[in-house]
Amino acid sequence: MKQEKNIPYKIYLEEQEMPQQWYNVRADMKNKPAPLLNPGTLKPMTAEELEGVFCKDLVAQELDNDNAYIDIPQEIRDFYKMYRPSPLIRAYCLEEKMQTPAKIYYKFEGNNTSGSHKLNSAIAQAYYAKKQGLKGVTTETGAGQWGTALSMACSYLDLDCQVYMVKCSYDQKPFRREVMRTYGAKVTPSPSVTTEVGKKILAEHPGTSGSLGCAISEAVEQATTHEGYRYVLGSVLNQVLLHQSVIGLETKAALDKYGIKADMIIGCAGGGSNLGGLISPFMGEKLRGEADYQFIAVEPASCPSLTRGRYAYDFCDTGKVCPLAKMYTLGSGFIPSPNHAGGLRYHGMSSVLSQLYEDGLMEARSVEQTEVFKAAEEFARVEGILPAPESSHAIKVAMDEALKCKETGEEKTIVFGLTGTGYFDMYAYEAFHDGKMEDYVPTDEDLAIGFAGLPDMK
Ligand SMILES: *Cc1c(COP(=O)(O)O)cnc(C)c1O
Repeated sequence: MKQEKNIPYKIYLEEQEMPQQWYNVRADMKNKPAPLLNPGTLKPMTAEELEGVFCKDLVAQELDNDNAYIDIPQEIRDFYKMYRPSPLIRAYCLEEKMQTPAKIYYKFEGNNTSGSHKLNSAIAQAYYAKKQGLKGVTTETGAGQWGTALSMACSYLDLDCQVYMVKCSYDQKPFRREVMRTYGAKVTPSPSVTTEVGKKILAEHPGTSGSLGCAISEAVEQATTHEGYRYVLGSVLNQVLLHQSVIGLETKAALDKYGIKADMIIGCAGGGSNLGGLISPFMGEKLRGEADYQFIAVEPASCPSLTRGRYAYDFCDTGKVCPLAKMYTLGSGFIPSPNHAGGLRYHGMSSVLSQLYEDGLMEARSVEQTEVFKAAEEFARVEGILPAPESSHAIKVAMDEALKCKETGEEKTIVFGLTGTGYFDMYAYEAFHDGKMEDYVPTDEDLAIGFAGLPDMK
C-alpha cells in the first residue's frame, strides 16, 4: 500500500476536537426550506401544534432557520464519546486496486452497535424527551437501524421506546428485532391492529408488507393518544439534519487538520439525514461564497425521489396524519418494489436538501441495486469493512467518479459517507451472490400513481 507522506490511513480527531455545537445550514440558505403545513388549514404549523407530536426543544430546533450554531448539551457529548469521533479513512487500498489518481476518503459511521449514523440523532432526541419529563417515545423503523439506535439511546436514558417496524423487515430481519428488544424496546410489526390507522390500512390492503409511511402513521397515533409520549423520527426532519451535522463538522475538522481540500462530497440519500449532515458545513462555505464543492446525492433507481420525483407539498406518511412537507417526492402512496433490498425506500426527501437541489447547489444520481452490491463487494474485499447496502450507493458513485479520474488523469479529492455496516443485510447479499437479485425501475406510469395522490393545494 502506497501511503502519502503525512496523511495517516485513518484520521482520528482527539476527544477535545469534537464539535461542541451543531451547525444549522438553514441559517446560511438564502431560500429557506418551505415550512411544514397543517394539513387542515394549509397554514404553517405553529410551535404549539407541533409540540402535540414532538418534544418541545426539538420543535424549537425544527423551526429555527436563523441560528447557525446550536450548543450540543454536555450529556449528549458524553454519549457521543462512547463511539465518536468517528474515523475519516483514506481508501488507499481501493485507490490502489482501481489504479486511480483520485484521493478517496470516507467517513465511517458504522462503529457502534446500531451500525449506522442514526445514533447521532437518536441520543439527541431521547435526551430532549427525557429533559421534558416524558415517559417514552414512539417511532417507526424500516430496515431497523433507526429503531436500534433509538432503543440504545432510550435504554441509556431510561425511557420507554415503542417501535413500529415495517412488516417485511420485521419478518426478514429477526436479529435486528432482537437487538432492539435487548435494549428494552417494544417492537410491533406494521401495519398492526394496535392503532386505528393500522387497522384501516390492513382493511384496505390485506396482506401488505407495510411501508415506512404506514409505520410513521401508526407511531404518531400511538404517541398522540398516550399521555407522556411523543413521536420521534430518524430522518427527513430539519432537526435530524442538524444533529447529523456532527458528521460533517468532524469530517471538516479532520480534513482541515491535514490541509486537505475536498473537491467532491458524496452521500447516499434516503430521507437525507446523513447526506445533509455530512455536507452541511461544506455547503455553508459554498453558500457564503468561501469555497466551492460538488455535492452528489445518490438514491436507488427503484425509489428515485430527487431524480424523478416532484417538488411539491406532500404527506409524510401513508395515513396522512402528519403535517405536509414540501419536498422532492414520489407521493406518499408510492411503495417501492418488494424486490428492492437496498434500503433508502422513503417516498420523500428532506426539505432542506430538496431546496438545495432545487436551487442547483447539489446534484443527484440514481443507481440500480445490482451495481450497488457489486461496488459494495469490491469495496469490502479491499477495505475490509462490510458496508450497508444504503452506504454502498455512495461507494458506487465514488468509484464511478474515481474511474473518471483515471480516464482524465485528474487527482480529485473525493469524500463520501460510509453510513454503516451491513451485517443484518446478508439475505440481500445472498440474493446478489446467487444471481437472484433483480433491478427494478418504476415506469412513468408507476410513478404517475404516486403523483396522483399528492394533496391538492388549492
Ligand atoms: C437510515 C440509513 C440511511 C439513510 O437515511 P438518511 O436519512 O438518508 O441518511 C443510510 N445509511 C444507513 C446505514 C442507514 O441506516
